[in-house]
Amino acid sequence: MRGTMMDFPLTLVPMLERAGKLFGGVEVVSQRPDRSIARCTYADVYRRTRRLARALELAGIGRGDRVATLMWNHAAHLECYFGIPVAGGVMHTLNLRLHPNDLAFTANHARDRFLIVDDVLLPVYESFRAQVNFERVFVAPFGGAAIPREFEHYEDFLSAADDEFEYPELEENEAAVVCFTSGTTGKAKGVVYSHRALVLHSLAECIDGTFGISHGDVILACSSMFHANGWGLPYTAAMMGAKLILPGPHLDAEGLLDLIEREGVTLAAGVPTLWIGVLQALENNPGRWKIARPLRIVSGGAAVPEALFRGLDRFGIRVRQIWGMTETAPMASMGTIKSTLAGCSEDQEYKIRAKQGIPAPFVEMRVMCPEGEAPWDDKTFGELEVRGPWVAASYLDAPETGDRWSKDGWFRTGDVATIDPEGYVRIVDRSKDMIKSGGEWISSVDLENALMGHPAVSEAAVIGVPHPKWQERPLAVVVAKKGAEVKAEDLLLFLADKFAKWQLPDAFIFASEIPRTSVGKFLKTKLREEYANWEWK
Ligand code: ADP
Repeated sequence: MRGTMMDFPLTLVPMLERAGKLFGGVEVVSQRPDRSIARCTYADVYRRTRRLARALELAGIGRGDRVATLMWNHAAHLECYFGIPVAGGVMHTLNLRLHPNDLAFTANHARDRFLIVDDVLLPVYESFRAQVNFERVFVAPFGGAAIPREFEHYEDFLSAADDEFEYPELEENEAAVVCFTSGTTGKAKGVVYSHRALVLHSLAECIDGTFGISHGDVILACSSMFHANGWGLPYTAAMMGAKLILPGPHLDAEGLLDLIEREGVTLAAGVPTLWIGVLQALENNPGRWKIARPLRIVSGGAAVPEALFRGLDRFGIRVRQIWGMTETAPMASMGTIKSTLAGCSEDQEYKIRAKQGIPAPFVEMRVMCPEGEAPWDDKTFGELEVRGPWVAASYLDAPETGDRWSKDGWFRTGDVATIDPEGYVRIVDRSKDMIKSGGEWISSVDLENALMGHPAVSEAAVIGVPHPKWQERPLAVVVAKKGAEVKAEDLLLFLADKFAKWQLPDAFIFASEIPRTSVGKFLKTKLREEYANWEWK
């Protein structure tokens, strides 16, 4: 049948237009490196974003040309999030925590032409400068220090442009943004998001059960804008006209709680390690923060321990878990409790919340084992595969990675998972983190989550360490809570009724901290290196 609806391209342009025209009075709040606060509105962001787009156009950025950013979470980065793609360019968010060689690799691999860098991040640029060749480098005055003369000033670049910008006619499948995976388990790979994928992903973030973002929200975006598309929050917040709080370089628990209290935050998003810190700060400082409005936290990027849900519930803070990857823009699942499960016991509810949720609309998930697709029985595990409109179809110029997609087009995530009869996915582990002991598999995530449920433990990471007889055995690295003392025997006793004997760690290391990845997850590759020659007794 012919003659249906308009062929209306899904691009970032209408989202930017909404933010500027409908929500011009709503604030975007940025925390500077000295913790002072800069306030502007979506009207300012709109005007400056169009200026940036015009400046890029005048500077010769054409369709598909890459412009890199090396920036913290603040308003100028938000301008880049929109300004580069609506000018027809592709924003490449350089992950400022990567090793200089990897930064250079990603910039060269993406063929970045320009760089926009925060003044305070110039030392990071200097660390890989000799290995790259940007045509122009613009320095944004975020920290307020004098900008060395050899660089162009971002504000001058904007002021030199006029207000005559006209959007090019973008197609929805054109590239808008490129992000590289953070390399937790290997070399960074580029993921290119289309306008369409970003638009649909933002719409999905407004669904209750995902982030459920609405106009009245005050969003604290603790997901780094230099990684995994900033979890899409800059786009969704602008589209909905939700007040946006960008914490700059500061993600310490007390600083986050100060922002939550002062700005009336209703939704905070970031990796679980942040919220483990927040819970401890709340426990150690009773009554210090008054959280006036109901606060919900969306946590993803690593498994959320059940103890964290329980702990924050005691402060009236509701945590919801989502699962996703750079390759899935990143949100792919929703940690909702189905209405048909309402009325289950409190313990059962925590068990459901500790799973990674059901697929978000339009995202499909399946678990594959050697025999084929695994049944939804909560037991059979295999590799999780996904597909959907905001799932990558390939990596940027990396034909050797073609085997990450199945013949019928599903993306192989590298995560090991089960699905229960209700469709809830449970991530058992990353395949590279599973511990193989005497032919049986042990989930490092299960052990970690259980250990973090011990009242004296703040953090725990479990790795498989080579063993002469069993191939690998679990070794746990544990950080005790401030002022608490805990011994290996206590932990073994605590785990005894939750695991089979052969699954229990054979060694406990007590440490003051656990190494982190560029975005704050436990860096288990580093621990594996450190304990590779561990002598089992
Ligand atoms: P990297 O793989 O370098 O860490 P990503 O940030 O893309 O980069 O991480 C995606 C991975 O993070 C997933 O494949 C999965 O292993 C893990 N992950 C994300 N969300 C969750 C979650 N809710 N529970 C457990 N693991 C998660």
